[in-house]
Amino acid sequence: MSEPHASSTSPEAAFSLRTPYRDVTCGELRGDDAGRTVRMAGWVHRRRDLGRLIFLDLRDRFGITQVVADADESPGAHAAASRIRGEFVVEVSGQVARRLAGMANASMDTGAIEVRAGSVEILNEAQTPPFYINEPDAPIEESLRLRYRYLDIRRRAMLDRLLLRSELVNAIRDAHHRAGFVEIETPILLKSTPEGARDFIVPSRLQPGCVYALPQSPQQLKQLLMVAGMDRYFQIARCFRDEDLRGDRQPEFTQLDLEMSFVDEQRVMDFVEAMAVEVSRAVAPERPIQQSPFPRLDHIEAMERYGSDKPDLRFGMELVDLAPVLLGAPALRAPAPGEGPTGFRVFDDALAAGGRVKAVSAPGMADASRSQVDELVDLAKKYGAGGLAHVSVGPDGSGRSPIARFIGDDRLAAIVHAAAGKPGDLILVCADARPELVADVLGRLRQELGLRLGLADKDVLAYCWVYRFPMYQWDAERGRWDATHNPFSGVVPEDESLLVTASGDPYRPSPADPAGRARAMQYDIVLNGWELGGGSVRIHRRELLERSFALQGYSRERMQEMFGGILEAFDFGAPPHGGIAVGIDRWSALLAYQTNIREVMAFPKTQSGADLMMGSPSEPEPGQYDELGLRFVGVRQPG
Ligand code: ASP
Repeated sequence: MSEPHASSTSPEAAFSLRTPYRDVTCGELRGDDAGRTVRMAGWVHRRRDLGRLIFLDLRDRFGITQVVADADESPGAHAAASRIRGEFVVEVSGQVARRLAGMANASMDTGAIEVRAGSVEILNEAQTPPFYINEPDAPIEESLRLRYRYLDIRRRAMLDRLLLRSELVNAIRDAHHRAGFVEIETPILLKSTPEGARDFIVPSRLQPGCVYALPQSPQQLKQLLMVAGMDRYFQIARCFRDEDLRGDRQPEFTQLDLEMSFVDEQRVMDFVEAMAVEVSRAVAPERPIQQSPFPRLDHIEAMERYGSDKPDLRFGMELVDLAPVLLGAPALRAPAPGEGPTGFRVFDDALAAGGRVKAVSAPGMADASRSQVDELVDLAKKYGAGGLAHVSVGPDGSGRSPIARFIGDDRLAAIVHAAAGKPGDLILVCADARPELVADVLGRLRQELGLRLGLADKDVLAYCWVYRFPMYQWDAERGRWDATHNPFSGVVPEDESLLVTASGDPYRPSPADPAGRARAMQYDIVLNGWELGGGSVRIHRRELLERSFALQGYSRERMQEMFGGILEAFDFGAPPHGGIAVGIDRWSALLAYQTNIREVMAFPKTQSGADLMMGSPSEPEPGQYDELGLRFVGVRQPG
């Protein structure tokens, strides 16, 4: 190897993929290259020994090239190749040759050629890997994949997902720079930034007894950057939340975090939408965007029509309110004496208590077996419903249902009509005194059945916005209003007068407060039934922010302790501002047809928060606790 000396290479060559080990990658050669002498390096993907001929498929990130070591042409190369096993790292030099007629492999980019090896050098040997790297369909236990992630990433599917993610981030950065955003990093060692989860904390050595919190998001810092006059900020930000893990959760995850000054909701949503379209087209050009401009549903409408604040709009199956037809249709039979208004106790009780009776139609499920229907009823119960009624629509369009004997045939026909039930549909009806429960149960059934029945086109990207969420929800246990999304969210201007308590004392919230009716300038971006991100236009006046914090149960002292910095900053001229955070892991997963974000993370944690490859979390090194003045005394069990 030569000594490094002052560069004599052109910048173009320095930026190329050529290195001292290769002048082409394993994905580069085509038929026109026949006759060239080349050098390449990579891993042995597959080896076939035909005696005098040994075929090596040489693989790197860029592709696979077939190498032939022929004992007659090049005995040295053949001897080396005969010692090689799968996953050895080798360097090969040789001449590019067109494959013989009939031997070309159209499924490989390099399938028109092969490299006739002049020399084969083993750069490193490899043990037999614990799973197949060259069999894309072989099932592998996930714990093994995580333990040997560096081998898992050699597999094409995993590699492609990481490449997609890199392209996604690149396209995001590009769009933001063009739109005048400045990329700024914010600290990881921070103070608690509440986003509704538990903090990870880091004890300070220099200030014994004190801790940093890892950011749940850079929320306050990005707002402070607006006070600083930065105008438009973005960051591909790592966030940390100590929560129980699920398929779309990890203790650390990545957000596209952005904030803009002098904007309203419309302006932020317009930018994010245009950026999302551009980025989707760059990363997944073959996937159609269902509707652009994206549908915008206010929270009430989303819950009413889809029973969800993150509706999957790839299919219809909208929820239908049955109360009008159960109660109101003039042609209906009058209730018999002693009978409730609908004839069915469950419906009557729900409606009398201010609840709802709603339905959703599942296409083609009218012939569902008894046990299939029972399974749906069990699902509804799991989601919290007392039960689930069903109506099957027969070939002639008439309904059949066990509840017919209570409500009568005319009401049954009215249900089928209201639910737009077509022959073959199974109409599912949920009734409960709690309107949000009815929405939630039917919303979840809708989502589950939509996917099961194959109604959601897997290629389509159905983005939408859900906006105008309630500002707060009452926390009965703690006696305070919790922000439904973000403690800094602004209130819709016409609702500002509602940010008061019934008692008149801002520090004594109660469920009777007008604040419960206030709507937030909050918007969520949704993709195929997943909440991709959420943001808001913020409160930028100190007095209003203090009022909102008081409703959220902060005493004056606690407010000062937690948010003193940002409250003070607002005294120095905070511009109106708003922003959003979009989950990069979720976005990558959806674009890569995955339902688990671990599949688009290079080094994710397991369900129990463990890194199986590096072995974290682990006990501290000797002395580390002492230095921090800590001792582990065990965990007190709650209760
Ligand atoms: N900080 C919020 C979050 O992480 C997003 C935002 O409001 O910008 O969910």
